[in-house]
Amino acid sequence: MYESLALYINGEFREGDGRVTQTVTNPSTLDELAKLPHATQRDLDDALAAAQKAFESWRHSSPMLRSEILRKVAQLTRDNAETIARNMTLDQGKPLAESSGEVIACADHADWHAEECRRIYGRVIPARSPDVRQFVVREPIGVCVAFTPWNFPYNQAIRKICAAIGAGCTIIIKGPEDAPSAVMAIARLFHEAGLPAGVLNMVWGEPAEISDYLIRSPIVRKVSFTGSVPVGKQLAALAGAHMKPITMELGGHSPVLVFNDADVQQAATQLARFKVRNAGQVCVSPTRFYVHNDIYDEFLKTFVDTLSQIKVGDGLEADTQMGPLAHARRVPTMVEFVSNAKSLGGKVVLGGEPLARTGHFFSPTVVTDLPDHAMLMTDEPFGPIAPVTRFNDTTEVITRANALPFGLSSYVYTNSLKTAHLAARELQSGMVNINHFGSGLPETPFGGVKDSGIGSEGGSETFDGYLVTKFVTQT
Ligand code: NAD
Repeated sequence: MYESLALYINGEFREGDGRVTQTVTNPSTLDELAKLPHATQRDLDDALAAAQKAFESWRHSSPMLRSEILRKVAQLTRDNAETIARNMTLDQGKPLAESSGEVIACADHADWHAEECRRIYGRVIPARSPDVRQFVVREPIGVCVAFTPWNFPYNQAIRKICAAIGAGCTIIIKGPEDAPSAVMAIARLFHEAGLPAGVLNMVWGEPAEISDYLIRSPIVRKVSFTGSVPVGKQLAALAGAHMKPITMELGGHSPVLVFNDADVQQAATQLARFKVRNAGQVCVSPTRFYVHNDIYDEFLKTFVDTLSQIKVGDGLEADTQMGPLAHARRVPTMVEFVSNAKSLGGKVVLGGEPLARTGHFFSPTVVTDLPDHAMLMTDEPFGPIAPVTRFNDTTEVITRANALPFGLSSYVYTNSLKTAHLAARELQSGMVNINHFGSGLPETPFGGVKDSGIGSEGGSETFDGYLVTKFVTQT
């Protein structure tokens, strides 16, 4: 049975009841899974009022209580992981093993926030006079709104919710309408864990209409978004016009630098497997490959061989290693990337086409011989396509890697300490992974620079975006 879909407002689940609904489909089979109710304006007003009212008490709640609820959610996540993961594979398409991995990792995120929310410290500043006591406290910012996407539906939502609630804020979240089961499950788990009514509210609808209405509301004090750069800039502009702080986790176009002293086999196989994770629909996916001329042929052969063996199929089938793209609209985008590459002399050495079967499937694809101005090298593919290019010189490759407005993640393969150090220092990205993939753990900050975003989620930074600083001076 697929998740039963509803809104969650002021501690109550609101079903369809005459509301406009949206059909949710399985991207592998195109079967209808459920109808998702859209929030009316009354629902949005109720959610705002509930979040405002709940904030008055939740901001004074003990960190012990917040921690206890977050811990319960972590445990409930583990207890229900199988069902949540299956539903996520049904509406999002990723292989079941990836869905399960995501859900279990999210239990760790909830645990991390449960621990860290007991350590939101202020500080005492030595005063100039012995009669003065002056100190700094960090207070919850207020009612938050969050908009989360469809590629990691459980992960992206739970991190924002845990950060807001752990900081003492209340939150209204709008999850991804195309893959709603994970966020729906989160609301049910918080409800079961005993979260007071109104602290978490969940709505669905036309993304642009909902975000516009909520961000403009004077009740809302903070905006958090994960998604594409253009939408992020639009929401950031609106939030800025109303003087509301933002956390933006946006797209990237992560460069991969494979130097001639790297372990080529390890790099090629690791990168090939990581490339097809979630069918490439990962904001930190390795997407622009720069391989040193000396090892280019060896790298390309192993990379293509590994990708050619990837089993593409329905995520519920046990041997599937890559599922479909999450939406019909992503398939023509992939076709456009390939045709632009070909028009500029690019050679498609693997794949390059949608699969001739039901569902939004696109084959793992490798393109070579591209100029740096090809669309694949400048725009985030967000799909299973890898452009592989050559380089000769370290300075040249770092310049090329930094040439785009993105700055989310980057990958470096080298056995030289000097090169690793240089790359870590010079690459303009929020995360640098050297000889492995290590981003996205609860205890490490996740976030981008430049157009890829503002702020971090995870790590000891995780509450920063949900707190304001108050200075108190007293005689
Ligand atoms: P899109 O830009 O239409 O939407 C991206 C996400 O933002 C979706 O979840 C969507 O529901 C939401 N959204 C769109 N307009 C909104 C608005 N006005 N207010 C609030 N939410 C809004 O793109 P898409 O076709 O869904 O996805 C493709 C692109 O999105 C990719 O190229 C990728 O860059 C980006 N993306 C990034 C992430 C990430 O993790 N940073 C996740 C999903 C999508």
